[in-house]
Amino acid sequence: MSFDKNPNSTRRALLGGMAAAAGAAMMSTARAQSAIQENDTLSLDQRADLAKAALRDARGTKLVMLGTGAGPMVGMPRHQTSHVMMHNGSAYVLDFGLGVSNEFARTGLLFNQVRAGFLTHHHPDHNIEYGPFLLLGWIYGMSPSVQMYGPPPLDQMTKDYLRSQKATLQFWAEDLGGTPLTAVPVTEFSDSGFVMADENVRVTAVRVEHPPVNPAFGYRFDFPDRSIAFSGDTVPLDAVAQMAKGADILVHEAMNIDATKKLAQHIARDNPKANYDQIMKHMMADHSPVEEVGRIAQEAGVKTLILSHLTPVMPVTPDAVWRSAAAKHFKGEILVGYDLMVV
Ligand SMILES: [Zn+2]
Ligand SMILES: [Zn+2]
Repeated sequence: MSFDKNPNSTRRALLGGMAAAAGAAMMSTARAQSAIQENDTLSLDQRADLAKAALRDARGTKLVMLGTGAGPMVGMPRHQTSHVMMHNGSAYVLDFGLGVSNEFARTGLLFNQVRAGFLTHHHPDHNIEYGPFLLLGWIYGMSPSVQMYGPPPLDQMTKDYLRSQKATLQFWAEDLGGTPLTAVPVTEFSDSGFVMADENVRVTAVRVEHPPVNPAFGYRFDFPDRSIAFSGDTVPLDAVAQMAKGADILVHEAMNIDATKKLAQHIARDNPKANYDQIMKHMMADHSPVEEVGRIAQEAGVKTLILSHLTPVMPVTPDAVWRSAAAKHFKGEILVGYDLMVV
């Protein structure tokens, strides 16, 4: 078997192989969907109705898991990574994977409630729908003063996207009135520390390890009644445990190594450019085995650990397996995230 030492082509082979293997060789989408439904026993529409009701009756801060799958895969039973937090009628969005606009709308929240958006890092499963979210948000009345935060080159990406959509925005404005969206305020940062604060929340970020993406961040959102920390995409990191110290909730990415090995075997078998050892080396250098996630949560002393950005999405790992692996080192509450889960 040929072995390409170029990490970029290995990554391409890995991602292409993951999509192909996940899409065809591993399991039909229908079967995977039923496996996901076993996890929470609800259909997508039922989940959306429950999310709407939970947000309508919300007292205090709510977190909605909009997308809980890892990687830029399409046609999967989990959406790519995104979240929204709601406090006092204001919405704060974290990450913009494919499906974020639809999933956001399904919660019943309105685009004009969005105060700010945040990006952990520039991988497509976290930013591919960033631009479209801005455009759709504009159509649905999102304030043009909505603030966006994230690592470089977010400012350039925002300008480039709006420029690429200039004609579209003008046609729409001409038809329906209003002013075309020409700019969105962006604040970039490259180091750990304070990000922003308003009357609802104080936001800080911590640099994480997710090579070759640099910088990549985890976040902490301190609302008056609740603190929510996010690992972002990273290997197990003491810095994440420190950031999340004493938080109510830690949302941490999680990888099932056995299932990832199975997926890597399929990829290596089906794709001549892929190599099993290289794939596993990459996964271990970029992501967090779920047992280690439990250790981080225990060190942080959080009340609730939510496992998300689940690797791999397929083959599906039963909730009980995720939970017992995380429980090896973590004694608090463990939730396996699913799309439209409200906490
Ligand atoms: Zn990711
Ligand atoms: Zn990533």
